[in-house]
Amino acid sequence: MIHDGASGALHALDTRIASCRACPRLVAWREEAARVKRAAFADEEYWARPVPGFGPQDARLLVLGLAPAAHGGNRTGRMFTGDRSGDVLFHAFHGVGLANLAQPLAPGDGLRLLGTRVTAPVHCAPPQNKPTPRERDTCRHWLAEELALLRPTVRAVVILGAFGWQAALPAFAEAAWTVPRPRPRFGHGAVVRLAAHDGGPPLDVFGCYHVSQRNTFTGLLTPAMLRTVLRNAGRAAGLDVTEE
Ligand code: SF4
Repeated sequence: MIHDGASGALHALDTRIASCRACPRLVAWREEAARVKRAAFADEEYWARPVPGFGPQDARLLVLGLAPAAHGGNRTGRMFTGDRSGDVLFHAFHGVGLANLAQPLAPGDGLRLLGTRVTAPVHCAPPQNKPTPRERDTCRHWLAEELALLRPTVRAVVILGAFGWQAALPAFAEAAWTVPRPRPRFGHGAVVRLAAHDGGPPLDVFGCYHVSQRNTFTGLLTPAMLRTVLRNAGRAAGLDVTEE
């Protein structure tokens, strides 16, 4: 079962993504994680497939990580669900009015993202959280297709981390927007407006440190910093965000 919160063409895309086996190393890794499991999840049946995006078809804001975690999204089948990074992100979504739950647990918990969708440029959990350049490039067409379907409404994107930034920019160019050369550099708080090459509205791209445990435990990314980026991006997307 796909836990994408989408409908129509986007739901159909999510279903196709969940069946992809184009990267042999990642297929092996996602299935190996499901066999070995982490002790805390020994009784659970892992999803062990590509994890599609989650959120409505008419999302105005897109939030991108890099790839699902082996025992997080790869276990639950829902992006950013089931690990600490996701907990931090969803708590911040709720804090700024972009989610109805502060601590979603698993598919079926009633989580709704408001005008917002989460996805990733790589849909399978990679070893050491690092896809190879070839895997990153092989997966890009899925993000380009997702962006094309969101095109009528999406106005802003938050990219979590430099790897996600590098992986996502070419997909924006493929979908509808012009990415300047040299490519804009990632930074926390960076904001870049991409003009459209299809005659439509531009896209505001926001950089944010990744919600990884390493960043949040060390204080490199605090909850307040994350909320600030989400608020700014939500406003740019025309969403009703709540103030501090
Ligand atoms: S990473 Fe992307 S392209 Fe590769 S198998 Fe997973 S869904 Fe398919």
